[in-house]
Amino acid sequence: MTRNDWTKEEILAIYNKPLMELLYEAATVHRIHHDPNKVQVSTLLSIKTGGCPEDCGYCPQAARYHTDIEGNDLMSVSQVKAQALRAKSSGSSRVCMGAAWRNVKDGKEFDNVLEMVRTINKLDMEVCCTLGMVTENQAKRLAEAGLYAYNHNLDSSEEYYKEVISTRGYQDRLDTISNVRKSKVTVCSGGIIGMGESLEDRAGMLVALATLNPQPESTPINALVPVEGTPLEEQQKISIWEMLRMIATTRIVMPETQVRLSAGRTDMSREGQAMCFFAGANSIFAGDKLLTTPNPNVDDDMAMFKLLGLKPQKAFEKKPQPQSVSAEESKYKHLGEKPKWSRPGHTIERNVEAKAKSKTKV
Ligand code: SF4
Repeated sequence: MTRNDWTKEEILAIYNKPLMELLYEAATVHRIHHDPNKVQVSTLLSIKTGGCPEDCGYCPQAARYHTDIEGNDLMSVSQVKAQALRAKSSGSSRVCMGAAWRNVKDGKEFDNVLEMVRTINKLDMEVCCTLGMVTENQAKRLAEAGLYAYNHNLDSSEEYYKEVISTRGYQDRLDTISNVRKSKVTVCSGGIIGMGESLEDRAGMLVALATLNPQPESTPINALVPVEGTPLEEQQKISIWEMLRMIATTRIVMPETQVRLSAGRTDMSREGQAMCFFAGANSIFAGDKLLTTPNPNVDDDMAMFKLLGLKPQKAFEKKPQPQSVSAEESKYKHLGEKPKWSRPGHTIERNVEAKAKSKTKV
């Protein structure tokens, strides 16, 4: 049975169990709710890279940090279709489109994204978007176009969030998730470990996710990949043991959710990843780039699947394919919304320093 009343103390007690006990419990929960030999494979596509006005301390796409990534404008529908077909032929059942926006704005670009959703849905693939904050009407327009999932990560605990991002608040994240829930789109929400947070913060993030009712259908657990030029560039990488504990704990408190082993896999051995699958991870991102950070290539992943006897999960195994309504028949119209998402008053010193440092780069 799925519980929505987890406390931080309970989650910490699970996280800190002797490892063998933790893994055994997580693997047991996993087998009750999922086929342990199936792993969902998603391809993450950056449809608009860089130039983001936000100040997420881990992100090379924030305009203020001037990292070495090459930005690009919104991709065309035909470019996205070509990439989706490539992803499908290499075993992905889902395409997740990411745009480096603070929030969705009604207009031509959003109309193009809706067309991309329709196009990928017609390829019989699950479509996910991660576009920043959305209103209820925008979520419903995405649902109507055939969106399967919307990703909006909580990143960390509410307390630690303020140490990483100053340009929006935790409540904004929860509001967007709640707007997505008002449509038929499933929720994908998780976070990042290794940003300097405490174990209490990791547990706090899981409390925030596990007490959502319903819980997210998908939860990515990322290990920070420190990128030069960002405020978190000097952060120590986390060990496989921390990732393993986080995956196992997530599996236990969110039994039905697809737990995605996300950023940081390039630093993990096959043995380490196999342990994560045993502990309940049943989703990965495929492709040699995760937006802008490195990721194992598809051939290596498929070789690992063969070695471990894993099979890629087919599209729509967990939930039927959403119907896609054309732009002409759409019930929800462009409202020209310009919502005033909050702009919290606090600043984060290391984010300010990173911005200043980037200006002095030659
Ligand atoms: S994580 Fe998203 S919102 Fe934050 S800076 Fe990067 S692209 Fe912008």
